[in-house]
Amino acid sequence: MRILIIEDEPKMQMGLKDNLEFEGYEVDSSNNGEDGLKKILENKFDLILLDVMLPKLSGFDVCRKTREQKIATPIILLTAKGEEIDKIIGLEIGADDYVTKPFSLRELLARIKAVLRRAEKSVGVSGIVMIGRTEVNFASYNAFEEGISVQMSHKEFELLKYLYNNRNQTVNRDDLLKNVWGDIFTTSRTIDNFIVKLRQKIETDPNNPKVILTVHGIGYKLIAMQ
Ligand code: CA
Repeated sequence: MRILIIEDEPKMQMGLKDNLEFEGYEVDSSNNGEDGLKKILENKFDLILLDVMLPKLSGFDVCRKTREQKIATPIILLTAKGEEIDKIIGLEIGADDYVTKPFSLRELLARIKAVLRRAEKSVGVSGIVMIGRTEVNFASYNAFEEGISVQMSHKEFELLKYLYNNRNQTVNRDDLLKNVWGDIFTTSRTIDNFIVKLRQKIETDPNNPKVILTVHGIGYKLIAMQ
Protein backbone atom coordinates (compact mmCIF):
# COMPACT_ATOMS: atom_id res chain seq x y z
CA MET A 1 0.00 0.00 0.00
CA ARG A 2 1.46 3.34 -1.08
CA ILE A 3 0.63 6.51 0.75
CA LEU A 4 1.49 10.04 -0.33
CA ILE A 5 1.83 12.65 2.40
CA ILE A 6 1.49 16.27 1.32
CA GLU A 7 2.42 18.35 4.35
CA ASP A 8 4.62 21.42 4.67
CA GLU A 9 5.51 21.19 8.35
CA PRO A 10 8.76 19.17 8.33
CA LYS A 11 8.23 17.70 11.80
CA MET A 12 4.72 16.59 11.01
CA GLN A 13 5.74 15.16 7.66
CA MET A 14 8.66 13.22 9.12
CA GLY A 15 6.64 11.96 12.05
CA LEU A 16 3.88 10.68 9.79
CA LYS A 17 6.33 9.12 7.37
CA ASP A 18 8.21 7.25 10.10
CA ASN A 19 5.08 5.99 11.76
CA LEU A 20 3.37 4.90 8.57
CA GLU A 21 6.49 3.12 7.37
CA PHE A 22 6.66 1.40 10.73
CA GLU A 23 3.09 0.23 10.10
CA GLY A 24 4.24 -1.30 6.82
CA TYR A 25 3.09 1.33 4.35
CA GLU A 26 5.27 2.55 1.52
CA VAL A 27 5.44 6.33 1.89
CA ASP A 28 6.24 9.18 -0.45
CA SER A 29 6.04 12.79 0.64
CA SER A 30 5.84 16.29 -0.66
CA ASN A 31 5.96 19.69 1.06
CA ASN A 32 3.85 21.86 -1.22
CA GLY A 33 0.63 21.61 -3.18
CA GLU A 34 2.10 22.01 -6.63
CA ASP A 35 4.68 19.27 -6.20
CA GLY A 36 2.14 17.07 -4.44
CA LEU A 37 -0.31 17.34 -7.31
CA LYS A 38 2.46 16.52 -9.78
CA LYS A 39 3.23 13.36 -7.81
CA ILE A 40 -0.44 12.39 -7.77
CA LEU A 41 -0.70 12.79 -11.54
CA GLU A 42 2.50 10.91 -12.28
CA ASN A 43 2.28 8.04 -9.80
CA LYS A 44 -0.21 5.61 -8.43
CA PHE A 45 -1.00 5.82 -4.73
CA ASP A 46 -3.51 3.93 -2.63
CA LEU A 47 -4.14 6.87 -0.35
CA ILE A 48 -3.26 10.55 0.01
CA LEU A 49 -2.87 12.45 3.29
CA LEU A 50 -3.38 16.05 2.34
CA ASP A 51 -2.75 19.08 4.52
CA VAL A 52 -5.14 21.95 3.83
CA MET A 53 -2.85 24.95 4.37
CA LEU A 54 -0.03 24.43 1.91
CA PRO A 55 2.33 26.68 -0.04
CA LYS A 56 1.78 27.16 -3.79
CA LEU A 57 -1.51 25.27 -4.02
CA SER A 58 -3.92 24.70 -1.16
CA GLY A 59 -5.03 21.23 -0.13
CA PHE A 60 -8.51 22.05 -1.40
CA ASP A 61 -7.15 22.93 -4.83
CA VAL A 62 -5.04 19.78 -4.93
CA CYS A 63 -8.10 17.73 -4.02
CA ARG A 64 -10.30 19.42 -6.58
CA LYS A 65 -7.74 19.11 -9.38
CA THR A 66 -7.13 15.46 -8.54
CA ARG A 67 -10.83 14.69 -8.91
CA GLU A 68 -11.03 16.76 -12.10
CA GLN A 69 -8.45 14.40 -13.54
CA LYS A 70 -10.75 11.48 -12.65
CA ILE A 71 -8.27 10.15 -10.12
CA ALA A 72 -10.30 8.38 -7.45
CA THR A 73 -7.47 7.71 -4.96
CA PRO A 74 -8.87 8.17 -1.44
CA ILE A 75 -7.90 11.47 0.18
CA ILE A 76 -7.83 12.22 3.91
CA LEU A 77 -7.54 15.93 4.67
CA LEU A 78 -5.43 17.10 7.58
CA THR A 79 -7.17 20.17 8.90
CA ALA A 80 -5.97 22.51 11.60
CA LYS A 81 -8.07 23.38 14.61
CA GLY A 82 -10.34 26.28 13.78
CA GLU A 83 -10.77 25.10 10.19
CA GLU A 84 -13.91 23.28 11.30
CA ILE A 85 -16.02 25.00 8.68
CA ASP A 86 -13.69 23.79 5.96
CA LYS A 87 -14.33 20.17 6.76
CA ILE A 88 -17.66 20.23 5.01
CA ILE A 89 -16.18 21.95 1.99
CA GLY A 90 -13.46 19.31 2.06
CA LEU A 91 -15.91 16.48 1.77
CA GLU A 92 -17.82 18.34 -0.92
CA ILE A 93 -14.76 18.78 -3.11
CA GLY A 94 -14.13 15.06 -3.15
CA ALA A 95 -12.10 14.24 -0.04
CA ASP A 96 -13.01 10.95 1.64
CA ASP A 97 -12.38 11.91 5.24
CA TYR A 98 -10.53 14.37 7.43
CA VAL A 99 -8.72 14.50 10.73
CA THR A 100 -8.23 17.61 12.81
CA LYS A 101 -4.79 18.48 14.14
CA PRO A 102 -3.62 17.61 16.68
CA PHE A 103 -4.69 14.00 16.14
CA SER A 104 -3.39 10.82 17.67
CA LEU A 105 -1.57 8.32 15.54
CA ARG A 106 -4.10 5.72 16.57
CA GLU A 107 -6.95 7.85 15.30
CA LEU A 108 -5.22 8.50 12.00
CA LEU A 109 -4.38 4.83 11.47
CA ALA A 110 -7.99 3.89 12.13
CA ARG A 111 -9.16 6.45 9.57
CA ILE A 112 -6.62 5.25 7.03
CA LYS A 113 -7.71 1.65 7.43
CA ALA A 114 -11.40 2.55 7.20
CA VAL A 115 -10.89 4.64 4.06
CA LEU A 116 -8.77 1.94 2.40
CA ARG A 117 -11.37 -0.69 3.23
CA ARG A 118 -14.09 1.45 1.75
CA ALA A 119 -12.06 2.13 -1.39
CA GLU A 120 -11.39 -1.55 -1.86
CA LYS A 121 -15.06 -2.31 -1.50
CA SER A 122 -16.06 0.42 -3.89
CA VAL A 123 -14.19 -0.50 -7.04
CA GLY A 124 -11.72 -3.21 -6.11
CA VAL A 125 -7.97 -2.73 -5.99
CA SER A 126 -7.64 -3.25 -9.74
CA GLY A 127 -10.66 -1.14 -10.60
CA ILE A 128 -12.25 -4.17 -12.29
CA VAL A 129 -15.62 -5.44 -11.15
CA MET A 130 -18.27 -7.79 -12.47
CA ILE A 131 -21.67 -6.25 -13.00
CA GLY A 132 -24.08 -8.88 -14.21
CA ARG A 133 -22.18 -10.61 -17.02
CA THR A 134 -20.18 -7.50 -17.83
CA GLU A 135 -16.61 -7.00 -16.68
CA VAL A 136 -16.22 -3.29 -16.00
CA ASN A 137 -12.92 -1.54 -15.46
CA PHE A 138 -13.60 1.79 -13.77
CA ALA A 139 -9.92 2.70 -13.78
CA SER A 140 -9.52 2.62 -17.55
CA TYR A 141 -13.20 3.05 -18.50
CA ASN A 142 -13.45 -0.21 -20.43
CA ALA A 143 -16.14 -2.85 -20.34
CA PHE A 144 -16.26 -6.34 -21.78
CA GLU A 145 -18.82 -9.04 -22.07
CA GLU A 146 -17.39 -12.46 -22.86
CA GLY A 147 -14.32 -10.79 -24.29
CA ILE A 148 -16.25 -8.41 -26.51
CA SER A 149 -15.93 -4.70 -25.81
CA VAL A 150 -19.07 -2.95 -24.61
CA GLN A 151 -19.15 0.66 -25.79
CA MET A 152 -20.21 3.11 -23.12
CA SER A 153 -20.00 6.87 -22.92
CA HIS A 154 -18.12 8.53 -20.10
CA LYS A 155 -21.39 9.55 -18.48
CA GLU A 156 -22.72 6.02 -18.69
CA PHE A 157 -19.60 4.79 -16.91
CA GLU A 158 -20.02 7.42 -14.22
CA LEU A 159 -23.66 6.54 -13.70
CA LEU A 160 -22.84 2.85 -13.54
CA LYS A 161 -20.01 3.52 -11.10
CA TYR A 162 -22.22 5.52 -8.78
CA LEU A 163 -24.87 2.81 -8.83
CA TYR A 164 -22.19 0.19 -8.22
CA ASN A 165 -20.66 2.08 -5.31
CA ASN A 166 -24.13 2.13 -3.77
CA ARG A 167 -24.99 -1.37 -4.91
CA ASN A 168 -27.81 -3.34 -3.37
CA GLN A 169 -29.40 -0.20 -2.06
CA THR A 170 -31.91 2.15 -3.57
CA VAL A 171 -30.46 5.31 -5.09
CA ASN A 172 -32.93 8.10 -5.68
CA ARG A 173 -32.95 10.29 -8.75
CA ASP A 174 -31.96 13.41 -6.81
CA ASP A 175 -28.77 11.69 -5.63
CA LEU A 176 -27.96 10.75 -9.20
CA LEU A 177 -28.58 14.28 -10.42
CA LYS A 178 -26.37 15.72 -7.72
CA ASN A 179 -23.55 13.20 -7.77
CA VAL A 180 -23.36 12.07 -11.37
CA TRP A 181 -24.53 15.12 -13.28
CA GLY A 182 -23.63 17.71 -10.69
CA ASP A 183 -26.16 20.20 -11.98
CA ILE A 184 -29.74 21.23 -11.56
CA PHE A 185 -30.55 21.55 -15.23
CA THR A 186 -30.70 17.86 -15.98
CA THR A 187 -34.15 16.39 -15.64
CA SER A 188 -35.00 13.04 -14.15
CA ARG A 189 -36.16 12.08 -17.65
CA THR A 190 -32.52 12.26 -18.76
CA ILE A 191 -31.56 9.82 -16.02
CA ASP A 192 -34.29 7.42 -17.07
CA ASN A 193 -33.04 7.57 -20.66
CA PHE A 194 -29.50 6.80 -19.53
CA ILE A 195 -30.75 3.85 -17.52
CA VAL A 196 -32.54 2.49 -20.60
CA LYS A 197 -29.28 2.75 -22.56
CA LEU A 198 -27.25 1.11 -19.78
CA ARG A 199 -29.70 -1.76 -19.57
CA GLN A 200 -29.41 -2.36 -23.31
CA LYS A 201 -25.68 -2.74 -22.80
CA ILE A 202 -25.46 -4.86 -19.67
CA GLU A 203 -28.76 -6.68 -19.20
CA THR A 204 -29.39 -10.07 -20.80
CA ASP A 205 -33.00 -9.00 -21.36
CA PRO A 206 -33.26 -5.19 -21.13
CA ASN A 207 -37.05 -5.40 -20.86
CA ASN A 208 -36.78 -7.65 -17.85
CA PRO A 209 -33.81 -6.18 -15.96
CA LYS A 210 -32.03 -8.23 -13.34
CA VAL A 211 -29.07 -5.95 -12.68
CA ILE A 212 -30.42 -2.39 -12.65
CA LEU A 213 -33.84 -2.55 -11.03
CA THR A 214 -36.43 0.20 -10.96
CA VAL A 215 -37.64 1.17 -7.52
CA HIS A 216 -40.98 2.74 -8.35
CA GLY A 217 -41.40 6.34 -7.36
CA ILE A 218 -37.85 6.56 -5.99
CA GLY A 219 -35.06 5.57 -8.31
CA TYR A 220 -32.88 2.58 -9.05
CA LYS A 221 -31.03 -0.25 -7.41
CA LEU A 222 -28.03 -2.06 -8.85
CA ILE A 223 -27.70 -5.68 -7.84
CA ALA A 224 -24.16 -7.02 -7.55
CA MET A 225 -22.54 -9.75 -5.50
CA GLN A 226 -19.07 -8.28 -4.99
CA1 CA B 1 0.31 23.36 6.60
